[in-house]
Amino acid sequence: MSNSTSIRNRLRSFGITPRKSLGQNFLTDDDSARRIVRLAGIKPEEMAFEIGPGIGALTRHLAQAARHVIAIELDRNLIPILQQELASVSNMTILQADALAVDFVKLLRDGGFDERSPVRFVGNLPYYITSAMIRRMLEAPLNTRGIVLTVQLEVAERIVAQPGDMSMLSVSVQVYGKPELLMRLSPSTFFPQPDVDSAVVRITPRRQTDNPDALFDLARAGFSQRRKQLRNTLSAGLRLPKPAADEMLADAAIDAARRAETLSIPEWVRLTDVYIQRGYAAAKRSDSSASDSASNSDVPAPTTANSTEL
Ligand code: SAM
Repeated sequence: MSNSTSIRNRLRSFGITPRKSLGQNFLTDDDSARRIVRLAGIKPEEMAFEIGPGIGALTRHLAQAARHVIAIELDRNLIPILQQELASVSNMTILQADALAVDFVKLLRDGGFDERSPVRFVGNLPYYITSAMIRRMLEAPLNTRGIVLTVQLEVAERIVAQPGDMSMLSVSVQVYGKPELLMRLSPSTFFPQPDVDSAVVRITPRRQTDNPDALFDLARAGFSQRRKQLRNTLSAGLRLPKPAADEMLADAAIDAARRAETLSIPEWVRLTDVYIQRGYAAAKRSDSSASDSASNSDVPAPTTANSTEL
């Protein structure tokens, strides 16, 4: 019996049909599951957060490697099958929740673990939560040692892109860490088979700036009109006069005629430093909070940590 037949039978015995709306493509190849966990490099003293365990293809291997696994699955229908599959595993907690909404620090504390415990994230993410989930993992105030994710190949390529092909996604990830594309997975390694290839990406946290919010303000403005020169996109997006945008770029030693996709992370960091030194970042923040409170005094201004677009 092939692996996918056995998974299909197990799902059927629990009356479960994979839900496309939740991105349910389950890994059927145990060798790939072992390899992914090996690539995560989990040490025995480290905690593992698994995002979307599905029916547990990775979970058992994670539990063998980690001190404890906290597996967060949104689909309540999968909880009984997970519990049965992993009944013999003692160092794991299965949680039915939306991984986009949980408080990871609280989960550690509630489990009796120190919130400074070293943690790693592992997940095979549905396409529709990939960007938001990456942002949550990278911004979580945890002692994160690494993140290993299976994502669509095209998304993996965008995450690891280099100057010339940068996007809001690559900047947002690379400001926080170093991403590497480690392995490709064909559709046949999943049941049901997805339409596209997948890839495993590892992100090793390495924060490049102390001012990510200001950097993201700049990047959002820069990428808002991809084909336009930075002097125009920054001036329009940040509501700065063109000569001020030109001077800011000159101070950061960046040609004002370049496009956002060509900038390296050190260049974004340099530009951010100039943006802050010139007082534009503070002016923009007070400008946005003034317009937020003017537009709806009952709704607090969004905290920038939660509002980074990828
Ligand atoms: N890790 C399993 C595997 O490799 O076989 C399952 C991967 S499947 C691509 C994605 C899983 O994420 C599904 O089980 C789905 O129900 C779950 N999921 C989707 N959205 C989620 C969310 N917001 N929070 C937690 N889990 C979610």
